[in-house]
Amino acid sequence: MGNKEEYLLKAIREIHLHTNIQVLDISSIYETEPVGFTNQDHFLNMVIEVKTDLAPIEMLEVLQSIENDFDRKRIVRWGPRTLDLDILLYNHENIVTEQLIIPHPRMHERSFVLIPLYEIQKDIYIPGIDKPIADIINQLQDKEGVRIWKQKNGVDVFALFES
Ligand code: AMP
Repeated sequence: MGNKEEYLLKAIREIHLHTNIQVLDISSIYETEPVGFTNQDHFLNMVIEVKTDLAPIEMLEVLQSIENDFDRKRIVRWGPRTLDLDILLYNHENIVTEQLIIPHPRMHERSFVLIPLYEIQKDIYIPGIDKPIADIINQLQDKEGVRIWKQKNGVDVFALFES
């Protein structure tokens, strides 16, 4: 909902401003047709790579507090929201706890996750999935619904954090 690009870029800035987190790379911004609850505006999605010395659960807490800062409202499941931050992967770890599952359990079936991920990490290995990411994407039905909305400025990721 709202100014989606601004929310994304502000969220990335907040993540980068955290003492224990450094943003290493970002994808382009992708426009995605809604799935599930379809009577709503398009989503904007992107994937970022970070370096952190936080444990996965601490990272989740940081992301949840940023989501709360954005006054995220979720009235309908799969419905409109201001910001949704997920952890897709953490090194090559497999984590299953009540609060956190890594790799994110639905990432391998979502083009809006895999396409931006592939843009920044062509050789990424997804634990538990014995296929190159390019093959997984090729086999997905919903990939036509994911389009580049704003091409990444390849010159300098950190231009985002200036001014
Ligand atoms: P959602 O708002 O649909 O992203 O779901 C948020 C809930 O999913 C939170 O309560 C988290 O504890 C839980 N969760 C489980 N695995 C993950 C993950 N890899 N990234 C983010 N949230 C997760």
